[in-house]
This record gives sequence, structure tokens and C-alpha cells, in this order.
Amino acid sequence: MDIIEKEKKGEFCTKWNCGTCGAIAFRATLISKLKIYRKIPNITKLSKTDEEKRYIAPIYRDLEKEMQRKIIDEISVELRKLTDDQISRLEELKRDFPVLRFLFVEFKNSSDYLYSLLVGTPAGIYLKDMIEHHKSRS
Ligand SMILES: [Zn+2]
Repeated sequence: MDIIEKEKKGEFCTKWNCGTCGAIAFRATLISKLKIYRKIPNITKLSKTDEEKRYIAPIYRDLEKEMQRKIIDEISVELRKLTDDQISRLEELKRDFPVLRFLFVEFKNSSDYLYSLLVGTPAGIYLKDMIEHHKSRS
């Protein structure tokens, strides 16, 4: 996914809890890269950009359930392509660019569904660890 490359170069803030920007540009740009983007109802009204012409709306949590599910479907196709090597590489970078964690937190309301689409893939194993780690702490 080229958005992952961009955030590696530091073009996007990906700190989920960022008090300054909430990583809004990354979250909205991620959605804008999807094929489903143009099929979002009223997308021309919902879409917003900042002064640097980066997308800042819409983000996943503001969309309808049905659209969220289609987003998960499309993202899962990309995640299924990630190899073990790519995942370990992203893990090495995660202190500065916690992108995998970010994706899974962003789609947390559908994490069981997302996991069901990723079973048996390296990304699925990663997600399962995250889900279990989260459960063990709560
Ligand atoms: Zn930020």
C-alpha cells in the first residue's frame, strides 16, 4: 500500500492518540486511496482537505456501517498480501511508524470480522496477537 510508504517517509502523523492532529490526515487519506472511495454516498460533500491539500475527511468512524464493512473488505485484500518479512519490517519501524497497530485500532469495531478475513495469513497472526493482548489487559 503506497500510503504505508508515505507514512514511512514521515509525510503523515500516525500517532493514534496524537493530541495535536489525531492523525486525521493519515486516517482520511487512507480512506481516499480505496477503490470504494468514489462510491461513498455524498462523497463530494463529505470530503475535506486542509491547506496542504491533504484529505482530512471523511474518516472511517464517521461512515455508515455498510460502508465500513466494504472498507474492511477492501483493506483485508491488501493486508492478506503482506508477507512475514514485510510485517517484521513494519514491526522494526513501529516506534516511529506504528502503522499496523494503527490500522487495527482504526478498525477495532470490526476486528473480529477483519480477523475472519485474515485467518492463516501473517497479518492475521499479528491481529490475533493484538486482540489477545488487549483482552488480557481488560
Ligand atoms: Zn499528529
